[in-house]
Amino acid sequence: MKMRAAVFDKPGQPLVVREIDVPAPGLHHLLIRVKRCGICGSDLHLTDVHSSWNVPSGCVLGHEFSGEVVEAGAAVRDQWQPGDRVTALPYIGCGQCAFCMRGESFHCPHTLRLPTGDLVGGYGEYMVIGAREAVRLADHVSWEEGAFTEPLAVGLHAVAMSRIRPGAPVLVLGAGPVGLACAAMARRLGAGHVAVAARSDRRAELGRAMGADSFLVSDDRLGEAFADAAGAAPDVIYECVGTPGMMQCASDLAPVKGEIIMAGACNGHETLFGITPTLKELTYRYAACYTIAEFAHAQRLIATGEVNPMPMFDGTVSLDALPQAFEDLRANKTACKLMLTF
Ligand SMILES: [Zn+2]
Ligand SMILES: [Zn+2]
Repeated sequence: MKMRAAVFDKPGQPLVVREIDVPAPGLHHLLIRVKRCGICGSDLHLTDVHSSWNVPSGCVLGHEFSGEVVEAGAAVRDQWQPGDRVTALPYIGCGQCAFCMRGESFHCPHTLRLPTGDLVGGYGEYMVIGAREAVRLADHVSWEEGAFTEPLAVGLHAVAMSRIRPGAPVLVLGAGPVGLACAAMARRLGAGHVAVAARSDRRAELGRAMGADSFLVSDDRLGEAFADAAGAAPDVIYECVGTPGMMQCASDLAPVKGEIIMAGACNGHETLFGITPTLKELTYRYAACYTIAEFAHAQRLIATGEVNPMPMFDGTVSLDALPQAFEDLRANKTACKLMLTF
């Protein structure tokens, strides 16, 4: 069986919509028909001319999806039926190693991934997901809300990793979907004053809609502006920009014994003036993805209405319009979250 997908050929070239084979589900897999798939900044980085990822030609990316089960693998047919509504972690662990046992299939040495070409992603009509990594969507959850599970799970993982203390002020650097998800989750997990900082204030309203108490402009006065707004220095800083220099910026803003969660996935060389973290005795932690439990919890928070991701939603694009929308976003990231629809 054939399907249409937006395929990556080589860095610096737009995705190409063409026919490819529908992937076949294994014993513990589900074949789903994709309903929505968010366009993510990390896909732009993966396919950039300067990318160091070596994404193989023929890859289909797209890791923020929701869909409908079409076929369940033989081992999971009693749990999943055609028509079931679902989202899933965008990789499939072996299900047997120590990482998989803890629900950390991201770290599984045998995990099947999208950017390596092991799996076909949500930028195509159909994809295969792992039944272990799949999370059911309640009837009232929209396809968009289903596809928002992934970016919100990124924020939940970063915040859960921090030693967030009830009532303590926190600072989020960056107002992209990851930064906004961190703000929403920090609010949810009991932070005091939550401030989001970005280079411009064009997302100020969006930041507040996602749970920020204040929206600050990242300039030389950011530390003072935060202290004015929050009444203290930030107990935890979530770095969600991901460009070189942010580690130094966060370290300069942190107080003595402060904690910095690196959630921006910087794909470049960071330099840090060594004495800064020494004198302040800073703690750094790096966050990548989420566990299966965190992913399921992110969906639960959406389903119950405790976290509403929809202010981040900027609309849908068709598969034929996806390659151009992708290049437009690369040139100018004004949209927060566009989603592919079929
Ligand atoms: Zn993403
Ligand atoms: Zn494993």
